[in-house]
Amino acid sequence: MSENTSNEEKKEKLNFIEEMIVEHNNNGRFGAKVHTRFPPEPNGYLHIGHAKAICVNFGIAQKFGGKTNLRFDDTNPDTEETEFVDGIKRDVQWLGFQWDSEPYYASDYFQQLYDYAVQLINQGDAYVDFSSAEEMDMEKRAAKASKYRGRSVEDNLSDFEKMRTGAYEEGTCVLRAKIDMNADNWLLRDPILYRIKKMAHHRTGDKWNIYPMYDWAHGQSDSIEGITHSLCTLEFEPHRALYDWCIEKLGIYAPQQIEFSRLNLNYTITSKRKLKELVEKGFVTGWDDPRMPTITAMRRRGYTPASIRNFIEKAGVSKREQQIEINLLEFCLREDLNKVATRAMCVLQPLKVIITNIPEGKTEEMQVENNPEMEGSGSHIMPFGREIYIEQDDFMIDPPKKYFRLAPGQMVRLKGAYIIQCDNYLTDAEGNVTEVHCSYIENSRSGSDTSGLKVKGTLHWVSATEALPVEVRLYDRLFSKAEPGADCNYLDDLNPTSLEVVSTAYTEPFLKNASADDRFQFMRIGYFCLDKDSSSEKLVFNRTVSLKEGF
Ligand code: ATP
Ligand code: MG
Repeated sequence: MSENTSNEEKKEKLNFIEEMIVEHNNNGRFGAKVHTRFPPEPNGYLHIGHAKAICVNFGIAQKFGGKTNLRFDDTNPDTEETEFVDGIKRDVQWLGFQWDSEPYYASDYFQQLYDYAVQLINQGDAYVDFSSAEEMDMEKRAAKASKYRGRSVEDNLSDFEKMRTGAYEEGTCVLRAKIDMNADNWLLRDPILYRIKKMAHHRTGDKWNIYPMYDWAHGQSDSIEGITHSLCTLEFEPHRALYDWCIEKLGIYAPQQIEFSRLNLNYTITSKRKLKELVEKGFVTGWDDPRMPTITAMRRRGYTPASIRNFIEKAGVSKREQQIEINLLEFCLREDLNKVATRAMCVLQPLKVIITNIPEGKTEEMQVENNPEMEGSGSHIMPFGREIYIEQDDFMIDPPKKYFRLAPGQMVRLKGAYIIQCDNYLTDAEGNVTEVHCSYIENSRSGSDTSGLKVKGTLHWVSATEALPVEVRLYDRLFSKAEPGADCNYLDDLNPTSLEVVSTAYTEPFLKNASADDRFQFMRIGYFCLDKDSSSEKLVFNRTVSLKEGF
């Protein structure tokens, strides 16, 4: 590789949206300003796909010294709830972004949007249609004009007013834009702008009997807020012509819409509707069930905001539809947790080991490093005594060759403590090992080992008398197929063993002071965090991710 290329590669690479913005800035469009927005509909919690939209909108504004609005696209009173508004705000902030001034709401523009609609009617660009939904659909297919298309401005104004005041029942009529019933783009075949809904709205209450369609509210909301670049996902590409038509007819400020591809992740569903179904039908315990791909669930599971942002960065921004590997997300997660997690020990399937040459009641304090990856992270104390627990899997009566764990006659190092040798073991009537008897090598203490012994295996362990009994939740993928629902109902692809609860695990005693923000690496097992189900009687730990891929 020439020096030239490597120098160029060091320069920050711009994605295609950033390149467009640079061009706009160079030719003075938008006064070289960048003002983006993230426009969620508050009808559910945000998922990992939304994290992409958040990172793209906020990230690009940050890069160009611009601003980002958080705007709730709350035009549909059916499904929107204040709970979701609060959840979305928290998730955006947790991801590390702050919107400009206060959050905005499309519902704050209801009056303005209504006035705009009246303007269209006055210009002869919109009309009230009393046809049934079926009729309208048939006519659309047949490229045939509705018989209401040619009515007078006065009639349309009066009927639109009656829609607003509630004089007409739901389903009686709608307001349509008068565009082109022959347009190749179906969205331009006189789309509906308003429908009657006699329903209270989470913010405007009973004020309105009509509500704007998303397509009528969206473009104008961007215009009202002075958004420069309306970044959205590819499915809105055909809508752009409609937004542009509205803005041109109204003669108002025009943002530039730019579409990018959605984030799709294998083994994952990123559709709010389906995630909602999982919650409502009880396939998961809630929107924040740690197996869910929602931001709130990922936070609970122990994901860090940095790991999600790095993942989105690595997945990239383009117009190409693609499925990203969940392994990439987990790679970014491990990479970050490795830097920040406190190392600790936890035994999932305890097997008692008696160290026979330590007298009963005698304990020694072992000093264990908190995080070898982080300077100044300190250390903590681990009590070591006559009785300890190791994993059942770490002992075998009759081991194969190259088994470097514990077996009769074999030696292992206890992490952060001494080398022990197995002298004997006890079994129950079925032959299960119930207890292992060992002796420790006195001058083999970790850090001051003068024994000269070389042992290949190192085991994690906890003191049997001082360990903390805890519950540990081990998660596997929520779906067992890479593309859930590709060839059946996605519910049939749910993984029946996505949750394993280990209710009799033991951790080091210092974990009793763990707090929700702490991240742990349970040595040899994975990364963990405290779950919100913890109580003073029992702490519960979530496995955020295993230590290695495909563990
Ligand atoms: P869903 O399909 O899950 O219901 P949505 O698009 O209807 O998502 P909105 O609340 O309208 O949900 O989304 C807010 C913003 O997030 C939109 O601009 C949308 O394009 C973007 N977004 C939603 N899903 C994804 C995704 N998978 N990848 C990237 N952006 C997304
Ligand atoms: Mg949407």
